[in-house]
Amino acid sequence: MYKSGILTTLLFLILTCLLFIFLPGGGIIFLVPALAVAGVFLLIGKIKSLIFSKYQGDFDLWEEKINLLNESIAEKGKLLETLPAKEERVSFLFEISQNLIELIDFEKIIDLLIDTLEKIFPTADNILFFNFDKEGDKLILNRCLRRKNDTISSKKGNALDKWVLHQNRSLLIDDITKDFRFDYSKLPAYQERKVHSFILSPLSVGHKSLGVLRIEAKSPGLFSLDDSRLLRNISDLGAVVLERALLFQRAQDLAIKDSLTGLFVRSYFSQYLSRSLKDAAAKRQAVGLIMLDIDDFKKINDSYGHVVGDLVLMNLAGILKENINEQTGIVCRFGGEEFALVVTKSSRIEIIACAENILSAVRKTVLAFRRKKVSFTVSQGLAFYPDDCDSASVLIEQADVLLYKAKREGKNKLCYSGQ
Ligand code: GH3
Ligand code: MG
Ligand code: MG
Repeated sequence: MYKSGILTTLLFLILTCLLFIFLPGGGIIFLVPALAVAGVFLLIGKIKSLIFSKYQGDFDLWEEKINLLNESIAEKGKLLETLPAKEERVSFLFEISQNLIELIDFEKIIDLLIDTLEKIFPTADNILFFNFDKEGDKLILNRCLRRKNDTISSKKGNALDKWVLHQNRSLLIDDITKDFRFDYSKLPAYQERKVHSFILSPLSVGHKSLGVLRIEAKSPGLFSLDDSRLLRNISDLGAVVLERALLFQRAQDLAIKDSLTGLFVRSYFSQYLSRSLKDAAAKRQAVGLIMLDIDDFKKINDSYGHVVGDLVLMNLAGILKENINEQTGIVCRFGGEEFALVVTKSSRIEIIACAENILSAVRKTVLAFRRKKVSFTVSQGLAFYPDDCDSASVLIEQADVLLYKAKREGKNKLCYSGQ
C-alpha cells in the first residue's frame, strides 16, 4: 500500500511537470492533489511505523507461537503416520496376553513368547531365551529361533544378558561396535554372526529373575526405543505367567514328591506301577521292581546325628536318580530309609545291571561332614514282571522277600529272582 501511494504521487508529479511544460498554469491542477496524496501516504507510513515499533515485541511473540504450532503440527503428522504400526502392536499385546493367561506349562509359554516376537520383529535375525539357573547362578540357552542358519556355539548368556539380568533392566544397542559400555571384540554374537543391533529384556517378577530374552539383528540401528519398550511389556507379561506356571508345577510336585529327597511318594509310585504293568502287558515287555533299603541306618543316625542321616538320604536319592532314566522309570521313597525303583522298557539283563551299578556307586560314596567321613551300603531285592508275578501287589511282595533275603545274607548285596 505504501509503495502504491508513492507510485500514485510520482504519477501526479509527472503529469504536473508535463502540464507545466505543455500547458503552463494547468499543472497546478495536478500539483495540489499530488501533494495531498503524498502527504496522506507519508502520514500512513509514519503511523504504520509507529504502530510497528510499539507492537514489535508482540509480533515476535506471535511469530514464535506460529513456529511452535507449525512444529507441533509436523510432529503430530509424524505420530499419525506411526499410528497404524502402534495399533498393530497394541493388538499383538492384547492377543498375546489373551493367549498367555490360558497357559500353565512352562515350555508352551516360552513357545508362545518366541512365536509372538517372531511376528512382531520380522527383521530380527535371532530370538533367544535364556533360563536363569539360580543355584548355579548362570543363564542357560533354553530356546532359540534362527532365521539365517546362524551358529550359536555358546549356550551360556553373554555380557549383555548378564548385564540385563543383574541390573533387571532392558537394554537397547544400536551398534555394538560404537557402544562404549561393552567390549564387542569379546562378544560371541558379534564375533560369530556379526550382530550389530540388540534389544534385551529381563523376565522378572519383582526382584525374582526367571531369565532373559535377547533379540539380535546383523544390521546396525534396526531397533527403536519403542521396540525395546514393547519387548519389555511382553517380557513382563511372560514373566508373570511363567512364575504362575512354576508355582503350579511346585504345587503339583509337593503333592507327589517327597520334600527331603525330591523323589516320588508312595501313592504316585502305586499309580505308576499299575500303569507300567498294563503297558508292559500290552507290549509284551518286562518291568523290574527294585526294593532298596539302607543298611544299619539307625547306627548312622545314632553315631553322627539325624542331620547326617538326612544327608545320606539326600545323597542316595541323587545316586538313584542318576541311575534311572526318567523316561522309562521312576525312583520313589517308599518310607523311612526304604526306596522303590521301577524300570520299564528294558531287558532283564539291563535291569540287573542297573541295580548292580547302584550297589557299586553307593559303595564308592564317602560323605564328609565336619571332618568326619561317612560311608554307607544298601541291600536290594529285585523282582520281575511278568516272570515272577501277574500283579503289582505280588511284584512288591516278591521284591520285598528278596530284599530281606539280601539282609539275611549279610547286607550290602543284591538278590533277584532266578539268580
Ligand atoms: P537294616 O540294615 O536292617 O535296615 O537296619 P536299619 O538300622 O537300617 O533299620 P531300622 O528299621 O532299624 O532303622 C531305620 C531308621 O531309619 C530308624 C529311623 O529313625 C531312621 N529314619 C527313618 N526316616 C528317617 C529320616 O527321614 N531321616 C533320618 N535321619 N532317619 C530316618
Ligand atoms: Mg535299613
Ligand atoms: Mg528299613
